Amino acid sequence: MERVIVIGSGPAGLTAAVYAARANLRPLVFAGGLYGGQLMLTTEVENYPGFPEGIMGPDLMIRFREQAERFGARIENVDVTAVDFARRPLLVRTCDEQYEAGTVIVATGASALWLDIPGEERLRGRGVSTCATCDGAFFRDKHIVVVGGGDSALEEALFLTRFGRRVTLIHRRDRLRASKIMSDRARSNEKIDMIWNTVVEEVRGDDHVTGLRLRNVADGSTYEFETDALFVAIGHTPNTGVFVGQLDLDERGYIDSPDGSVTNVEGVFVAGDVNDHRYRQAVTAAGAGCRAAMDAEKYLEALEFKMDSLARSSF
Ligand code: NAP
Repeated sequence: MERVIVIGSGPAGLTAAVYAARANLRPLVFAGGLYGGQLMLTTEVENYPGFPEGIMGPDLMIRFREQAERFGARIENVDVTAVDFARRPLLVRTCDEQYEAGTVIVATGASALWLDIPGEERLRGRGVSTCATCDGAFFRDKHIVVVGGGDSALEEALFLTRFGRRVTLIHRRDRLRASKIMSDRARSNEKIDMIWNTVVEEVRGDDHVTGLRLRNVADGSTYEFETDALFVAIGHTPNTGVFVGQLDLDERGYIDSPDGSVTNVEGVFVAGDVNDHRYRQAVTAAGAGCRAAMDAEKYLEALEFKMDSLARSSF
């Protein structure tokens, strides 16, 4: 039986792994098919403390992983397919095997949201994307559209100026949600122009994106807009599919934690974006991972003490 299973390998999961490993708990980490979480899809991270020059997201996650492994964390690049938290020990299933554990730390993060409009799914990978780092280089000297008004959208737009001849940001309101520093950078970039009060209603193209149908929400008018690519950057949804019916979720699907990392199930702890729709920063996720591992360690200590006492009293 495992003492700690960590599900997820972004900043929250791998920080939990570092702390649990340093507490000699030999955590088993299910990292998912693609380890590292959302930072694997970003470019430069400028606000993670300790890196005054900035660091590329994937490089930061390689460091997280190396640090966890250095202290004995075992990291498996597989997805968890089901859990049973109603029984003891807790049960975690992957495609091929099942594992029992005294505690589980859930740090499965969040995934990019899509617009859910005609043409979007059909043209994914053919001009429609949620990842500028992955797909930006395909659009050298092309015209690129980014949808969204938050920090992610501006980060994507700024990154895409390295490739595109022009980047148009389309936002549904007349004011950005993004931080001032990112807004200022985007506004002062000559390659970026902005279309306000506008939503994308359809993605056009046969085997690749050739244009969009846009609607101005202020006057209701619709019109065609030529472009070669559409990058969607409108926020995220928590990765909680396997926990439905196992853990309490809030109305948006995030895992409820009434107190710190504690969930409604004893022995199951939560950390990072899967439970945080407010801050969603690498550094807050890492802090939450630390907290979850410390809570798991305390819980195991109490559990093991109770089991020892029971064993002693039965002699
Ligand atoms: P976000 O802050 O929730 O912004 C989402 C944006 O998409 C909003 O502007 C929203 O419009 C728009 N939107 C949502 N649904 C839409 C739809 N169906 N159609 C059109 N537009 C839609 O999400 P985010 O940008 O991913 O950022 C999440 C968090 O990560 C934030 O805390 C952010 O600060 C942080 N972050 C930080 C950095 C950085 O520091 N460099 C980089 C990336 C992310 P409204 O404004 O009208 O709601």
